[in-house]
Amino acid sequence: MSTIDTLPPLRDVIATHGLSARKSLGQNFLLDLNLTAKIARQAGDLTNCDVLEIGPGPGGLTRGLLSEGARRVLAIEKDPRCLPALAEIGDAYAGKLQVIEGDALEINPLEHLTPPIRVAANLPYNVGTELLVRWLTPAQWPPFWQSLTLMFQREVAERIVALPGSKAYGRLALLAQWRADARIVLHLPPEAFTPPPKVSSAVVHLTALPEPRFSADPAILNRVVAAGFNQRRKMLRASLKGVAPDMEDRLRAAGIKPTERAEQVSLEAFCALAREVAKK
Ligand code: SAM
Repeated sequence: MSTIDTLPPLRDVIATHGLSARKSLGQNFLLDLNLTAKIARQAGDLTNCDVLEIGPGPGGLTRGLLSEGARRVLAIEKDPRCLPALAEIGDAYAGKLQVIEGDALEINPLEHLTPPIRVAANLPYNVGTELLVRWLTPAQWPPFWQSLTLMFQREVAERIVALPGSKAYGRLALLAQWRADARIVLHLPPEAFTPPPKVSSAVVHLTALPEPRFSADPAILNRVVAAGFNQRRKMLRASLKGVAPDMEDRLRAAGIKPTERAEQVSLEAFCALAREVAKK
């Protein structure tokens, strides 16, 4: 059940606190609280979860997450100008919002969070992709998060959910789909943001699987996939030549034709190949 809060409209918050959007921080704000509540609902049942939000800005999504019943929200924001606006939200939802000022790429939030943990963010796209890759490649699996609900440039969202045979299929798809379910849950036009960015956006929801879909050593899988897609137009027998000796035999043993290209190879086949490469 959604209860939009009694705090001022976000346009007023932005005017009161002088939060003119800064391009250098990738600031394209969501000001429609019905929309931010809708995004928060895509993150699943929040009532028993701590939510890690990166880049809350003036707090539109933060308010959505709290109005949708999040047990607690930990928000990391780089722009100190946003802190007074976020403090007002903290007052309205006493004890439920903690804000850390800083760069999400440099802060380890885990000591401030209690599982189960969900992540939600509308971030600048470069930071979002970097964090997504980190969240998908932890030292241990399952990861600290149960789900990730993240806004991306539409083209990046399509790369995350892409299937073999499509232009968007590549490392990001394989990384995301190996140990998570990944779906696009919402499309947003540029006009949904203030100021509007040049491109369309989409929200991707990823749910961590308890264990990988197919067994493979993460480092070897990463090496095989990276080599395959580095030269995606080449046949695998050429692009994977340096990965291990007798590569053509290993490809055949994994059920892959050496003349195939990386973009035609399924996740299951890449995992089989990683297992073959792991053999002496
Ligand atoms: N979540 C807000 C919304 O939906 O309206 C703001 C979204 S805006 C696209 C991105 C936000 O991330 C900005 O508030 C920006 O200051 C913040 N930000 C940018 N880089 C960051 C970083 N490295 N760490 C934490 N926050 C960052």
